[in-house]
Amino acid sequence: MAEQVADPAGEFALIRRHFMRGPTGPATVVPLGIGDDCALLQVPVGQQLAVSSDMLIEGRHFFIGTDPAAIGHKALAVNLSDLAAMAAAPLGFTLAIALPARDDTWLQAFTDGLFALARAHGCPLVGGDTTRGPLAISITVFGAVAADAALRRDAARVDDDLWVTGSLGAAALAVRQRRDGGAVDALAARRLDWPQPRLDCAAMLGELARAGQAHAAIDLSDGLAGDLGHVLSASATRLGVALGAEIDAAALPVDAALVGAGLAADDAVDLALSGGDDYELLFTAPPGARAAIVSRLPGVHRIGRVVAGQGILLRSASGAGRVIVARGFDHFAR
Ligand code: ADP
Ligand code: MG
Repeated sequence: MAEQVADPAGEFALIRRHFMRGPTGPATVVPLGIGDDCALLQVPVGQQLAVSSDMLIEGRHFFIGTDPAAIGHKALAVNLSDLAAMAAAPLGFTLAIALPARDDTWLQAFTDGLFALARAHGCPLVGGDTTRGPLAISITVFGAVAADAALRRDAARVDDDLWVTGSLGAAALAVRQRRDGGAVDALAARRLDWPQPRLDCAAMLGELARAGQAHAAIDLSDGLAGDLGHVLSASATRLGVALGAEIDAAALPVDAALVGAGLAADDAVDLALSGGDDYELLFTAPPGARAAIVSRLPGVHRIGRVVAGQGILLRSASGAGRVIVARGFDHFAR
C-alpha cells in the first residue's frame, strides 16, 4: 500500500541492500523470491503447507537496546519453532518490519543474526514489507509436511506419555536475573536471546506420528504449564472428554543454569513449569512407543502423562501431589 511519506527509491535501496543478501532457496523450492508482487513457493507433491506468524515488539518481547543480531535471530527462531512443533520442514519466510528510522548499522547486525539462522535451516527470505514506525518485526514462515505426519495440538489422548526435548527454565532465569539487575548467567542469557528451534527433532517426530507413535505436539513458548494446558484443552474439545495431566517433578529436565544459580529445588521446578521462552518441544505419545522414542530421539525426557479429568497435578518424589495453576503467559490476562 502506498504511504504518503514513502520514498520509493530509498525503500527499494534499503530492501536491496539489507534484505536481498540472505540465502536464496533452490529454484525447485523457491522459483521466485524477493522482488515481484508475490513470491512463488513449491510445496512438495503430497505435502501440505504449514504457515505460522509471530510478531516481536520492542519493549514487550525484547528489551530496548537488545543486540540487533539477537533480535534478528530470535524473530526467525520463534517461527521455526512453530514449524518444528508440527514436524514441518522450512520452505521460506516473509518479513514485515517497521523501523523508526533508517539505521544501516542496526539493519546490518539484525540481518546478520536473521540470515545466519535462515542459512542454518535452509529457510530463505522470500518477501515482506518495510515501513516506518515504532520498531516491530513480524515474520511468517512457510513449511511443508505430509498430512499424516503433522503433529496437531488437539491430538493428545488419555494415557499418553508427556515428553519434552532439551531442558527447561533457563530463559526464565535470565529474564528474572535481568529484572533483578544482578549478575546474569551467561548460558541462561544465551538461551533467552539465541533460542535454537528444535528442527533437529522435527523429521523424526513426523515419522513417529505417521507410525502412530506420537500424537500431539506444541512448542514451549509460554511455559510448560500454560502450553500443556493448550494441548489438554484442544484435545479435550476434540475428544469430548475432560483431560488433565500428571507431571513427575523429579523427571522435569530443569536446566543446569538453575542449579548453578543456587535456586531452591521448588523454585527451580516452578521456573521450569511456568517460565516461557524455552522453545523446546512438548509432545504426547502412547506408552507403547517408549522404546522407539528413546532410541530415535536421544535427549528427550518423559515427564508425566495425560489423564482423564481436569487440571495439572505435580507429583513430588514422595508421591504427594499438588495441583498447579497454569501460569502460562497471556498477553490479555488482567
Ligand atoms: P508491493 O508494493 O508490491 O507490496 P513492496 O514495494 O512492498 O511491494 O516490496 C517490493 C518487493 O520487496 C516485494 O517483493 C516485497 O516482498 C519485497 N520486500 C519488501 N520489504 C521486504 C522485507 N522487509 N523483507 C523482504 N522482502 C521485502
Ligand atoms: Mg508492500
